[in-house]
Amino acid sequence: MTSFPAIARRVRDESLDPRQRRMRLRNCLFHFAPYGFRATWDHLATTHRIPGSIEVDPSSLVRALGELEAARALVLPRAAEFAAQRRLQKREGRRVPATLHPWDSWGCSAIAYCPDPRKHPPEPLPVVVRRVLDACVAGVDPAGRCLVCGDDDRRPLRACRNCGVLPGGRGNPL
Ligand SMILES: [Zn+2]
Repeated sequence: MTSFPAIARRVRDESLDPRQRRMRLRNCLFHFAPYGFRATWDHLATTHRIPGSIEVDPSSLVRALGELEAARALVLPRAAEFAAQRRLQKREGRRVPATLHPWDSWGCSAIAYCPDPRKHPPEPLPVVVRRVLDACVAGVDPAGRCLVCGDDDRRPLRACRNCGVLPGGRGNPL
């Protein structure tokens, strides 16, 4: 599969048809989509006012890509660090702890998964992603408090009523 940076270059490639570039931006979300594919697309399309007729404003794609890349840049080092730690633990024969970090099982994607594509946090992606990463490092229990907005009225297996994020991600809802 083509890498995220390679697809990102195609999004910025002004020699391509704007519809092709929009498709490439959507392809980026297969590699990295903090809210899951549909909710992340909805967030980017709304925030950067990506028009239905993309020929009108193809630069909206580049603005959206910039936000996505900024969030991804936060996740990559931490995901690599976590993977290295897991490898070391395995090599030392230590029991590997249960998955606590959503990005572990989903490869950097859907770390603030929103099951309803229209309901997601209003802040920029890097702000939300940083908050989730910091909360995980601090050991905040996502079953007791929403990692994104701090709402403590958690309902098991349900998305946060306030910001729409499902704790634990789609693979492991808490
Ligand atoms: Zn929340």
